[in-house]
Amino acid sequence: MEYVKPIKRAMPLEFKDIFKHNQDWLKEKLDLDPDYFTKLSIKQTPSILYIGCCDSRVNPESIIGASPGDMFVHRNVANLVLESDVNSKSAIAFALEQLKVKHIIVVGHYHCGGIEAAMSFKDYGTLNDWLENIREEYQTYKEELDALGDGEKRNERLVELNVLEQCKHIANNPDFQKAQKEYGVELHAFVFDLNTGKIIDLEYEKIA
Ligand code: ZN
Repeated sequence: MEYVKPIKRAMPLEFKDIFKHNQDWLKEKLDLDPDYFTKLSIKQTPSILYIGCCDSRVNPESIIGASPGDMFVHRNVANLVLESDVNSKSAIAFALEQLKVKHIIVVGHYHCGGIEAAMSFKDYGTLNDWLENIREEYQTYKEELDALGDGEKRNERLVELNVLEQCKHIANNPDFQKAQKEYGVELHAFVFDLNTGKIIDLEYEKIA
């Protein structure tokens, strides 16, 4: 499917304009291919499962140049994949068993609000249970992280370690192990650097 540049517009997005933007967007697609939506509606055959953070500044499709149909996407606060979370487990199972995706990419990002909230050790109410998973990771890597001080460098390293931890969780997932054996699905750990716009490959496959 051909990659099409997003429509340029003034920021920020106004809620009242979303249907107008939708019309502009679908017109652009139809101008390129009158059968665009007919083709899109038949079937999805994405090759990638993207697991990332909910953060509004990290647009999964844009940062890697993906179009509709290219990626199956699962997002949550701080891109966690937990044994106890039926949501992420279901997304992984569907992506592997039904869609046969060839790659799973876990994408963290610097300046992650979830990581920063966890490291502030404040009371975040309902969010506390979720953040506890990140706080446990901090305890695991406390020595390495504390050596970086208590600012951005430490949080950036925790963003990286968090992505690697989630990859380990996926590697232990029976559905993943089955797919790896059956057709060699690959697992990747990425960090999106909000300071530069670059994606950093943490090369999980080399340390797994
Ligand atoms: Zn985030």
